[in-house]
Amino acid sequence: MGKRVSVQTPKGFRDALPKEAMERSLITDKMAGVFRRFGFIPLETPAVEYASLLEGKYGEEERLIFKFEDRGGRMLALRFDQTVPLARVMAQYPGKLPEPFRRYQIQPNWRAEKPQAGRYREFTQCDFDIVGSGSPLADAEVVAVVVSVLEELGFRKYHLLFNDRRVLTEMIAKSGIKKDLEAPTVRILDKLEKIGEEEAVSELVGAGIAPTKIEVLMQLLGRRPVLPKSKIAEISLDSIDEITNNLKYFGVPRTKVLYTPTLARGLDYYTGMILEVVIEGYERGSVGGGGRYDGLLGMFSGKPAPAVGFSFGLERVHEAMQNLHLLPEKSQTTKVLVTVFGKELAGASIRVASLLRRSGINTELRLTTSEKLDKQVRYADKQGIPFIVIIGPDESKADSVTLKNLNSGQQDLVPLDALPERLLA
Ligand code: AMP
Repeated sequence: MGKRVSVQTPKGFRDALPKEAMERSLITDKMAGVFRRFGFIPLETPAVEYASLLEGKYGEEERLIFKFEDRGGRMLALRFDQTVPLARVMAQYPGKLPEPFRRYQIQPNWRAEKPQAGRYREFTQCDFDIVGSGSPLADAEVVAVVVSVLEELGFRKYHLLFNDRRVLTEMIAKSGIKKDLEAPTVRILDKLEKIGEEEAVSELVGAGIAPTKIEVLMQLLGRRPVLPKSKIAEISLDSIDEITNNLKYFGVPRTKVLYTPTLARGLDYYTGMILEVVIEGYERGSVGGGGRYDGLLGMFSGKPAPAVGFSFGLERVHEAMQNLHLLPEKSQTTKVLVTVFGKELAGASIRVASLLRRSGINTELRLTTSEKLDKQVRYADKQGIPFIVIIGPDESKADSVTLKNLNSGQQDLVPLDALPERLLA
């Protein structure tokens, strides 16, 4: 006997068993439907990219990239997000894509995270981006899509945390913090709500920022009473107003969008609007995030292209829907089980199953010629299949079937040619 292999998924990786897999596809179908309604078109990219393409794009998160060498000695990396591959696609196919390019992409990504609730090493992101428009209308439209997706999935108690990197950058500059300390400052602010102000301040000091500057910054962020000589009046929120003023025309209630001055988002590439979704009743982190990143696409093509987008994390959306009971109780997609009476009548059952399948009805055929009928019925019941069809000698002679509704217990003889219609009703 060989050594027993361990039947486990690797740490941070998970199976989606049938119920979960069905729910996931229900969610992604709905999301893709909304994306298409807003004029977005699909894109898929490979699971691997050259490692050099991903390096230098994610700030300190870069250490989480899964990298490996192929047999030709090339360094490859598993897709980390869908934004950098999008930037590559834009640079690789000039003139071949519509302008602006509104694309959606629903694919898995991999990050070597420390696995914990809501944080996995393989997770699916549902991205949508508008490339080639720097208009605040594009930012507003992204907000509108996010709200439409959430509403479509049944969420009602949610908020979009909203900020603008330009405002944050201005606040950091007005605090007297030097440009080269901006990135670490943003990263620490991004964690502020999680680690608390005391810890954030001590990390800022650790990063080499003078306590007096930190005081001014905290004031500008609205975390301190405003002092008489405050610089707060000098901070312009026009860029935020330009985006949010149009939201009402999209039907987005202004109360859903919360200006959150400390929202920073960890990734380095954001340049304008930044967004994060929080859902009441789901505490495992944001179900999605995004924003404007005008610098990233020019990095590959040499031609700057403004871009704005957003990404939902499928696992977290799914968990939030489970928590809030927004998913259908039954995930069974098979509508009818065609039973097999015995060897002689197997052909008749196959013919009925084929007829139903041709009519677009999800049909399972019981693959046995020797099983008692009541056992077949019990099987259908246990699987949650709502209907069974029986074709015994009498039914076969009469070109009919017995159709039984397992939920109501009602059964009757139905002529074969009327059967599809009955099940489609
Ligand atoms: P990001 O690409 O980091 O901006 O993340 C966007 C969204 O993807 C987050 O709001 C999460 O919903 C989801 N996400 C990111 N990382 C993970 C992860 N390790 N596991 C599960 N979901 C994730």
